[in-house]
This record gives sequence, structure tokens and C-alpha cells, in this order.
Amino acid sequence: MPQATHHPVTHTLGFPRIGRERAVKWALESHWRGEADTTALHKTACDVRAESRQWHREAGVARPACGDFSFYDGMADLCLLFGQAPGRFGNLPNDLDSLFALARGRSSAQGSLAPLAMTKWFDTNYHYLVPELDADRPFRLDAERLLMEIRESLAGDPASKPVLIGPLTFLWLSGGVSREARLQRAPELAAAYASLLSEIAALGAEWVQLDEPILGLDLPAVWLAAFEPIYHRLKTPGLRLLLASYFSPVDGRLSLLANLPVDGVHVDVAAGDDLEALGDRLPAFKVLSAGVLDGRSVWRADLSALLDRLEPLYERLGERLWLAPSCSLLHLPLDAGEETDLPPALAANLSFARQKLDELTSLARGLAEGRGAIAEALEATITARRRLEALDGRHDAGRREQLARSLADEPTRACPYVERATAQQARLNLPILPTTTIGSFPQTDEIRATRRAHRRGEIDTAAYEQAMRAAIAETIREQERLDLDLLVHGEPERNDMVEYFGQQLDGFAFTRAGWVQSYGSRCVKPPIIWGDVARPRSLTVDWSRYAQSLTDRPVKGMLTGPVTMLSWSFVRDDLSREAVAYQLAAVLREEVADLCAAGIAAIQVDEPAFREGLPLRRVGWDGYLDWAVRAFRFATAVAPDDVQIHTHMCYSEFNDIIDAIAALDADVITIETTRSNMKLLDAFAEFEYPNEIGPGVWDIHSPLVPSVAEIGDRLRLALDKVPVDRLWVNPDCGLKTRGWEEVRAGLRNLVAAARDLRHEH
Ligand code: GLN
Ligand code: ZN
Repeated sequence: MPQATHHPVTHTLGFPRIGRERAVKWALESHWRGEADTTALHKTACDVRAESRQWHREAGVARPACGDFSFYDGMADLCLLFGQAPGRFGNLPNDLDSLFALARGRSSAQGSLAPLAMTKWFDTNYHYLVPELDADRPFRLDAERLLMEIRESLAGDPASKPVLIGPLTFLWLSGGVSREARLQRAPELAAAYASLLSEIAALGAEWVQLDEPILGLDLPAVWLAAFEPIYHRLKTPGLRLLLASYFSPVDGRLSLLANLPVDGVHVDVAAGDDLEALGDRLPAFKVLSAGVLDGRSVWRADLSALLDRLEPLYERLGERLWLAPSCSLLHLPLDAGEETDLPPALAANLSFARQKLDELTSLARGLAEGRGAIAEALEATITARRRLEALDGRHDAGRREQLARSLADEPTRACPYVERATAQQARLNLPILPTTTIGSFPQTDEIRATRRAHRRGEIDTAAYEQAMRAAIAETIREQERLDLDLLVHGEPERNDMVEYFGQQLDGFAFTRAGWVQSYGSRCVKPPIIWGDVARPRSLTVDWSRYAQSLTDRPVKGMLTGPVTMLSWSFVRDDLSREAVAYQLAAVLREEVADLCAAGIAAIQVDEPAFREGLPLRRVGWDGYLDWAVRAFRFATAVAPDDVQIHTHMCYSEFNDIIDAIAALDADVITIETTRSNMKLLDAFAEFEYPNEIGPGVWDIHSPLVPSVAEIGDRLRLALDKVPVDRLWVNPDCGLKTRGWEEVRAGLRNLVAAARDLRHEH
């Protein structure tokens, strides 16, 4: 047996922290309810960390990440670590109560203190809390909470590698003051980081990883220029620094990266980073960490292809080559071993966080000892993949050909909007300033309980459908009483806007335990798209037809768009996202056609994730928008001219994508505008957006019901920007999280405000 002396160092950048069976979620929530003290919370966290160390050890990973645990969010932890809680909270010590105050707000004698805002972490579905910096609040290090965790990890495994979000990424992602003002504070913050690094060195850590994923963004030159001087200040005797970039290629910045005063750099090969070019430039004493296993993919890697790529590098770099997943494994579910309900041929191809560890060490062995040493793993990968390819439903050649043929022509409605509008008006006969809602009505306890009982087989399908029909009938009656113009069925049968569709489609699988942290204690369980998407039978037609049968007013059909289904799922790795989006669009197109044939006169295709899908760097935007728009148009263009197509997008900016929004050519778009005080409409006004718009006039995230006057004011603002014959009146988003009382009151006011305004026009 050859001696395995020079195995490349394997390491992780971070690991899921919610624990098996979402242990940390349950612990947090019982703590917040006042049922468990912080000791219990710490115990759970300790167990979760010990288990992930154990898994790293069993797999043989040399340097597990540590210090990446959080009871809520790492950016919020850093706020407290550096004494940056916003002034309204007074002096917050770095403890759990403070963390929960930042995350969830706090009530005080002066009223309630708003929590930090939350926003998406790069292009993931994880949300971080946005620190609010100010121009001169000093950075004061209060590191004991973090140091304790690192001490614990080093005791468990002395090779553990503490991980910190880097100072420039921290500043870039913060708010409170302008970008310029934040950058000005970088030297001062670097000094605080330097003290922290000395303390970490004193605990015996050999390496610290500093994450600077902003290196993959479009960064102003002054920010790029700040890296070198700032990292000079972070040099710490006895400690080596690994600088990590991920999520988006560092294109054009390889020299900057190679020459930073650090001991190693990590790049994201899965995102397209050029490992070989970086290897060429890297000074001979530095480590190159190859993020080769896609840390965002649930699929097993092609180990043999990765070895092809890594072998020449390993030959050149030897032990300077490290191996890792591309990014923290936080964005993956924990353990595919739990997925005992999936078809074995599918389950065998899944690699969640735990499986990534084994793949990682297999790669390292394959490099150091030759492929023969991992023959079994290589063979297993090939066999598993072959079984997946052979799985019924993976590849439907006939369907693919047909799809390619239909996509050959640009999907376009038969007539331009202006003509369609006339046909639609003739059919729908709506007043000016028509009122509508975004789709969902209150999901009462009763509705949820009925869905749950049906899922568990406690009531049969007939009883379930009976209950849902009753809920729909009630929702229709309420809307008639409220005198809304374009009605909806209310979506009582839907748990989640992607899951509901995925569960009825071929090509989707749902995991038992595939939870991924979204924020705090909240987790999502994204479906997995593994096969060609097909629609065995219509998805929504029966419900829509039933709803329409109850009223003379038009009822909108309600679908989730192709891009949103794609963005909120894990997607197969053998087709482009574009190709899968078209498959999703194709089944929606069939559904739209069926709804039209069933006499539905308006259909809404929700795309709240349309903007989220944008690549992190501008260069990729046109390519994405091109196929995202085409997928939407393909789904909707089958509708005859007299069927009104709506779309809906939640809180997002439209300025820089307004041409793409117009290119969707939806007859009506409803958007969320209340919180911006109708500012988000400006982009539409400046562009002279040609179709109809429903800017939301009721912030449904708040329990406050707007008055007729408030709604009227918002509509008047909107009328400065949108011609009266193209303006709709509606809430910001669906009403499913609100109670019936508020919904009735809010809609009553909304209808009254629309009626008042009609008299003025
Ligand atoms: N139709 C959906 C609803 O009303 C839209 C949800 C969303 O925009 N996220 O709930
Ligand atoms: Zn919405």
C-alpha cells in the first residue's frame, strides 16, 4: 500500500447549523416562547456542533470550519462582536438576548424597537440581517461569545479553522451610512479585526478563513483598491490567513487576489473561477484552495472529471493545493441519508452537506494515492449516475423535440396589447380603476388543519375537496359583498406557491428532511427537479372552474411562473437553467390553454423571483433576462386576445430591468409599492410602460389596515405616473397571512377609495 503522505488538505468553509431534525429551530422557538432558558439553547448548539465535527472526522476532512455557527445570523453576530448595535438599542452586550433583539426587535418603555432589516445573502435564498453602521460609533471588540465557540471547536479538533466574514464584505453589505462613509471606516474596523485575530491565534488556531465574496461582484475601483492595505493590517504573528471568494467568478481580479498579503486563497470553481490561471499567478508560498465541489448543488459530483482537472494542478502545486466545497454548505440540506422515501436511483445521486464531506476526502485520496485507491467511490458514482439516467421520466426525447420546435419562433400573443385591451374590455366589462387582489385569502387554522388531515390520510379526498370548495365559495361571496371587480378563488388548497405545483408535476421530487435555513429559525424545503417536467393532468382548472361557476363576475386563474419555480427549487445539473425554465413554461402553457378553454377570462402568472434570478454581475444580466422573458412569454402567449394575462412581482426594484418587464407583455402587472410610497412606479412612468399596472396600495405585511384616505392618497400619487385607464387598485401581495377581520376592513377601504376616485374621473 502506498503511504498517503501528501494528501491535499481538505477543508470546509461552513456547515449547516440548524441541526438534525432542525434541532436548533425547535430550541430557538421554545426559548422565544419562554419555555427554555439559554442553557438549554447552548446545549442544543453544542450537540449540533459536536455532531458536525464528528461527521468531518469520520469522513477524514482535515480542517473543518468553526466559528460559523449562529443562533440567528452571522452578520448580526458581527454587529455585536464589534459593538455596532444601532443606537436605538442603547448599549447592547454581546449575548443572545441582544442578538434576538437585533433580529426580532424589542419592546421598550419608548415603544417598540425595530429589528435590523433583512435581505438576501448574495444570490442564495438565505437572508442576513443588515447591520446599521453610523459615521463614528467606535468599533469595540467584545469577542468572548465567539472565542468560546472557537475554543470548544479547537478542543474537539485542533485543526479546526475559524471562519469570519471579512471586513470589506461586512462593510459593503451593511447599511446605515453611505458606501463612501462605510469604506472610510475600513482601517478602523481592520484594527478591530486584527485584535480579534490575535485572540484567535492565542487559542491555538493555525489558520483563519476570511470570507470576501464581494470579490465576485461589480465593485467600484476604490473598494477593490482597499483590499491590499486592509489585509496588510490583518497580518497576525503565528496565524495564517485564507481569503475566500465564492458565488461569482473573480474574473479580472486574479492578480489582485494572488498578490494580497494572505497565505492562501480560495475560489469557487463551480461558479466558474479559473483555477489554473490563479495557480499560475500565485506566489510559490501560498496555498490555493480549489472550491471544486459545488456547495449549492444537491447532486453527487463527477469525481473522475474533477480528478482530470485537478491532477495537473496537484502535480504542480503539491501540498499547496487544498480541496473544498465551493462555498459554505449552509445552503444545502444536511444529510441525504435521511431520504429513504425517494426512489433509490434518485436518492443515490444526492449529495447533501454530509455527503459532500465524503466526496471531498475521496478526491483528496484519488489525487494523492491514485484513482485505484478510490476505485470503489468512482465506480459507485458512475453506477449511480447511470441508474439516474435510466430512470423513467429523466429524459423524454419526444417531448424535448416538440418543445424545441415550439420555441423556434419567438412566443408572442396574436395581437399587440392595445388591440388585446379592447377585446378584454369587451369581455370583462370592468370599470375604470378596477379592483382586484393578488390571489390568496386568509389561510385560517381550519384550512390548514384540513390540508394537514388530508395529507396524513385522516380525511379522504372527497371530504377534503368538499372543505376546499366551501372555502372557495365563502371567498367568492365575500368578494362579491365587498364589490371587488376581478375576483380570485383564494388559494385555500395551496401550501406553498412552488410546492403546490411541483407536487402535481412529473420531474419533481420532495425530500423528507431537506431543510435549508432561510433566516433565523426559518427553514425551507426546496423541491428537487430531477426529470423532464410534464403535467399528467390539469393543475388548477377544476378549482378555477368551480370558483367561476359561483359568480357572474370574472375570476382570475392563478399560476406560479417558470422562473419562480426554478429559483425556489434545486435544479438538475445536466441541463441549463434556461432549458429547465422552458420545460416549466411548457407545462404552464398547457395549463393556460386549459384555463382559457374552461372559460377563464383572466389568468395571473406570479413571478416574485423574477428579479432574484439576476446573475450577481451585470455582464450576465442580458443573457438571463433574455431566457427568463422568453419562458414567461412562452407560458402565456397561447392565451387568446380576450384573455387578460396578469403577472405579480413582490418588493423589487424595476429601474434597471424595466425593458425586460415590458417585454413580458403581460396585460397587467401588479407590484408592491406601498412601502416605497409609490416610488417604485417611477421606473414605469419614465419608461412610459405601455400596459396596465396595479401598484399595491395596502402593505399586507403590516397588521395596520389603511384608511380610505390613505389609499386614496396613494392612488392619487399613482395617477401622476400612470394614465387612469391603465391603473388598477389592489393590495401589495397575497392576503394569506392576514386574518379575515383585517382583510374585510382593508378591502372595504380599498374599494371605497377606488369608487371615490372614479367619480373624479
Ligand atoms: N398569488 C400568490 C398569493 O397571493 C402570490 C404570492 C407572492 O407573490 N409571493 O399568495
Ligand atoms: Zn407578492
